[in-house]
Amino acid sequence: MQITSAKAATIQANKKPRAKKAASPAPKTEATSDAVQLSGAKAPAASTSGLTQQATSSATQAATACCGPSGTALRMILTGPPGGGKGTQAELIQKFFKGTTHLSTGELLRQQVKEGTELGKQAQVYMQKGELVPDSIILAMVDQKLAGEESFILDGFPRSKAQAEHLDQTLARLGKSLTAVANLQVDDEIVVKRLKERGRQDDTEEIIRNRLKVYHEQTEPVIGHYQAQALLEQVAAEGKVAEVGYNMITQLNSRLRPQGC
Ligand code: ADP
Repeated sequence: MQITSAKAATIQANKKPRAKKAASPAPKTEATSDAVQLSGAKAPAASTSGLTQQATSSATQAATACCGPSGTALRMILTGPPGGGKGTQAELIQKFFKGTTHLSTGELLRQQVKEGTELGKQAQVYMQKGELVPDSIILAMVDQKLAGEESFILDGFPRSKAQAEHLDQTLARLGKSLTAVANLQVDDEIVVKRLKERGRQDDTEEIIRNRLKVYHEQTEPVIGHYQAQALLEQVAAEGKVAEVGYNMITQLNSRLRPQGC
């Protein structure tokens, strides 16, 4: 996989000294000092070098910042159209919010297909057409994965209002609440172009167009569901990976700040 400039920036950022860790027990999610530093940034960086500079600024400044997300679990949903960059952004977020698990239902399903399991065989029929895999397959799989996770990024789930309502119930049962839902906004034609270039098995133009249709009909209503819960963060996602990531991490960080900061 191509190493993007944003990844290079965050990899470099993570080599810098970190703010002091909290005394034990250590929180499962621990944002790096870089993320704390990002929270104090005045204006989003417009370039990768800007991101690097912001992200690699001194740990001292971070340690003296009035507030930061250290010790707070990030629990978020990444939504948006196919090709919106959810997987790429999830990797970036993980670099800043250490200990956060990336749960991609698409990846989990592809793994099952690869292993030739019964679940994989059933799911493949839908995936090959760009249709949603039935909830009877998806919901139990997600519930099982979520049960042990304190801090997570859900990517590709929920993909319908019914899935969102199910997730609400699961999280309530687990006594966990969401930090935010980030919606990556990308125009349909840019999606088609991006995915054709990516060239995964389900990235033919016909299947992409059907995935977009399914997205608009079934997944977009999920945005309203979370807007009503005041969890929604709209993220313009047609720009460079680093810019999109910077903006999103800044938005997430401000949600994790203790009140009054
Ligand atoms: P993309 O977002 O690029 O379409 P994903 O990897 O998220 O790719 O999903 C690939 C396919 O897996 C989808 O087209 C769908 O068939 C199936 N899938 C993934 N997540 C879900 C889900 N939450 N509910 C139903 N089907 C899903």
